[in-house]
Amino acid sequence: MQIAFIGLGNMGAPMAINLVKAGHSVKAFDLSADALARVKAEGGQIASSAQDAATGAEVVISMLPASQHVEGLYLGKDGQAGLLTHINKGALIIDSSTIAATSSQKVAQAAAAAGIGFIDAPVSGGTGGAIAGTLTFMVGGSDADLERARPVLEKMGANIFHAGAVGAGQTAKICNNMLLGILMIGTSEAIALGVANGLDPKVLSEIMRRSSGGNWALEKYNPFPGVHENAPASKGYAGGFGTDLMLKDLGLAQENAMSVKASTPLGGLARAIYAAHSIAGHGPQDFSSVIKMLQK
Ligand code: NAD
Repeated sequence: MQIAFIGLGNMGAPMAINLVKAGHSVKAFDLSADALARVKAEGGQIASSAQDAATGAEVVISMLPASQHVEGLYLGKDGQAGLLTHINKGALIIDSSTIAATSSQKVAQAAAAAGIGFIDAPVSGGTGGAIAGTLTFMVGGSDADLERARPVLEKMGANIFHAGAVGAGQTAKICNNMLLGILMIGTSEAIALGVANGLDPKVLSEIMRRSSGGNWALEKYNPFPGVHENAPASKGYAGGFGTDLMLKDLGLAQENAMSVKASTPLGGLARAIYAAHSIAGHGPQDFSSVIKMLQK
């Protein structure tokens, strides 16, 4: 199957590489030369532009930072036509970026008018899950489009959930990430408190992991350096999931909460904490670096 893959960052590159390893013909594009080189080194074909990647593709996958990048790519910007004018009629778009559900719906409507299928398929599982091919996909779209996408999604993920119509995948994703953002702050607070009392962070983390406070951060993504060898905390908080991306997701959650008049007080507080952490200069670092705000 001929696949176009646009956006080869911390998540997109390993996802595209897994498709190459599964035998798909992948033509990839990113604005960054370093990102392109990484995928080329693993056997992916490099495109000169997003249009070049998408020409003739049966499936177009995008993994971009935020709503404006996805809308700009497909619908166009600055007077330039979007990618929808270059994608074959009958092709399928799989957008795995975490963006506003309303943006997914806007792009899906324009795609449908051009005879192109669309699903939103944001992911969970972090860079470790992207590399291992064990991501969880949260899909919004029709049954038929999900079934067309399934053989491709299965090469990148271990769990595929159908959340509902277009946009529902994004809504599930921001609920999950609001919880994750809160959990990471809570986990950081608890570890910082223990360390301030002289406890060994590894021993304390293991106690909590096996107790009622156990959660994903304690399992796989400990915010304290040296507890998990492969977590961003042990690599100077490089790579992983940027604080600014978490801030974006918590913003999406708050916008959504306002639109449906939901009460999300901890989500709001978490957004304010990551915003302060970003302003202090940690925006590009992994979001688990939020522990720095809480340590002596
Ligand atoms: P990233 O910043 O590492 O990568 C984004 C890539 O998109 C960059 O390489 C950038 O050059 C490229 N890009 C931006 N605009 C482009 C355009 N117009 N054309 C081509 N390339 C373009 O981000 P990431 O961590 O890979 O995250 C991507 C998305 O996945 C985000 O929406 C994020 O919220 C979500 N996500 C990330 C993680 C994680 O752990 N990093 C986990 C789940 C979901």
